[in-house]
Amino acid sequence: MGKIIGIDLGTTNSVCAYMDRNEPRVIINEEGGRITPSVVGFSKGGERFVGDIAKRQMLINPDATIHSVKRFMGKRFREAGKDLPLVNYKVTEEKNSECGFEVGGRTYTPPEISAMILQKLKRSAEDFLGEAVTEAIITVPAHFNDRQRQATKDAGTIAGLNVLRIINEPTAAALAYLHDRRKSSTIAVFDFGGGTFDISIVQIDRDLGEVRATRGNNALGGGDIDKLIMDWLLEQFRREHGFDISGDKVVRQRMRDAAERAKLELSAALDTEVQLPFLTATQDGPLHLQCTLTRAQFETMALPLFEKTIEECKRALADARLNVEDIDEIVMVGGSSRIPRVKELVRDFFRRPLNQAFNPDEVVAIGAAIQAGILEGEVKSVTLLDVTSLSLGIEVEGRKFAKLIPKNTVIPAQRVQLVSTVVENQRTVKIHVLQGENALATDNTSLGEFELCGIEPAPRGAPRIEVKFGIDANGIVNVSARDTRGGAHGNITIQAPTGLSKLEVEQLREEAANYERDQEAATAMKELRFQVERHLVTLETFLREQGAVLHKTDVSELEQALKRGRMALTKSSDKTNLEEVGAWLKRFYLHLSEKINPSSAIH
Ligand code: AMP
Repeated sequence: MGKIIGIDLGTTNSVCAYMDRNEPRVIINEEGGRITPSVVGFSKGGERFVGDIAKRQMLINPDATIHSVKRFMGKRFREAGKDLPLVNYKVTEEKNSECGFEVGGRTYTPPEISAMILQKLKRSAEDFLGEAVTEAIITVPAHFNDRQRQATKDAGTIAGLNVLRIINEPTAAALAYLHDRRKSSTIAVFDFGGGTFDISIVQIDRDLGEVRATRGNNALGGGDIDKLIMDWLLEQFRREHGFDISGDKVVRQRMRDAAERAKLELSAALDTEVQLPFLTATQDGPLHLQCTLTRAQFETMALPLFEKTIEECKRALADARLNVEDIDEIVMVGGSSRIPRVKELVRDFFRRPLNQAFNPDEVVAIGAAIQAGILEGEVKSVTLLDVTSLSLGIEVEGRKFAKLIPKNTVIPAQRVQLVSTVVENQRTVKIHVLQGENALATDNTSLGEFELCGIEPAPRGAPRIEVKFGIDANGIVNVSARDTRGGAHGNITIQAPTGLSKLEVEQLREEAANYERDQEAATAMKELRFQVERHLVTLETFLREQGAVLHKTDVSELEQALKRGRMALTKSSDKTNLEEVGAWLKRFYLHLSEKINPSSAIH
């Protein structure tokens, strides 16, 4: 079995790690970085880029550069209202009312885009480890619901990865803590990333960790902070020049980029200057924006967002039935946890110094790698019990929500509910499954209507159907049903409405694998052409430098060889032919150089 990799599939950046003889290590990507931007860009010619290259084209091609895809994973279009102003590409409503992205006349689903990021991480891992990688652990925000987890798993499958486990990001960070420290304490994992915020309270008893409570907000992250600064910059421009340029996508993208840079600078400096030359033009010439943003101004505008994180911390403590004094350490995770005011608020709330020993960008991937080590049997005697962050239940009479598995229940968990029919000979029963904490069914997230089909005809109320609701270790919901009269698992089949069907996932996986193969073939051809070109340059240099001492027939043969090589380069798309020409040019050069200087020819 090859290595299992741990992947932190982030809103802004992704990180991949593995276990190397009981030590977690971050995998270096193809560009030499430890972090890969979670960005996918498409060129006009249909080429696709992932990571740093895609991020670079975001400014000039905002329509065709997809970032923050995680905010749309497993979301219905109508649930994505808050996320839409954060992006400049086109988000559409697709099948099952899910979100899609329209680029270059094609629509992509969020799992497909995420799969492209995962494919890149997989490739980097294979290059780095020198072996095929087929299995992975992927992390998700603790507050991801079933649909979002399912979509993440689908993304892994499309990318050709067998996703062995989906784990919660703060739980992964707690695993990293547990692996490193193994001392008894109660810790709070404060995870503030690019698109989400999670707080988990974890009780650690030497090598056993138990998540006591977890809270979060899936629409609260660095992107929301950038949006605030971006709006402020747009307002500065409007005040100075008297008109609004927020409708221009390229301007918005440049402002968003400048906003993030200003935010990063303000984590170290007390003020920052924003300079955006040639933003737009009027009859009087180009217009620029130059202004100063102080840390105090920034903190004032972002404070309401920062305070939301503290509200969640309070609720998490209440859920865990603990007081601030019970918390021994606070582990800071995620890029946004570097903001000085955020650190101050957390320190003031918990009245404890913060544990900043872990790299907030990498600790989640490190934890995922440790989970991989546990599954591989490499990491022993570390156990972490996780909980479900959302209550699972069904809709009952009066559009009410009946909880079956309350939030903060240790997973895997299972509950059984008996259901029956309401009319004579009823053959199907529909069960509306939801996740959330609200009393009214409609105020919670609908996972869909599960349909139990094939019930034996019987008087109303007679069938006794046992429906099992389970949440597995991935936090993924499964529903199974059994007619207790029939005994056997029965003829009851369940139709569960999820984002992508199994068949669609399989088709997309094949498509992605074909794309990968085509890319490999194209890269191999590029490399071959490069080799032929290199031999030609060597021969040209040789002719220029040694032409005078060569025999006439050699010069003419050399010119013929150059012609043949150039012809092959421009005309041939046949791999074997190019290989032959390349090898032949090399042999020819060796032959000539040996003729001139028999002792110095390099073989
Ligand atoms: P993550 O999802 O953990 O990769 O976090 C990414 C988010 O953290 C992005 O919104 C970044 O702009 C933000 N971030 C990273 N470093 C800093 C920093 N030094 N100060 C403020 N925000 C940061």
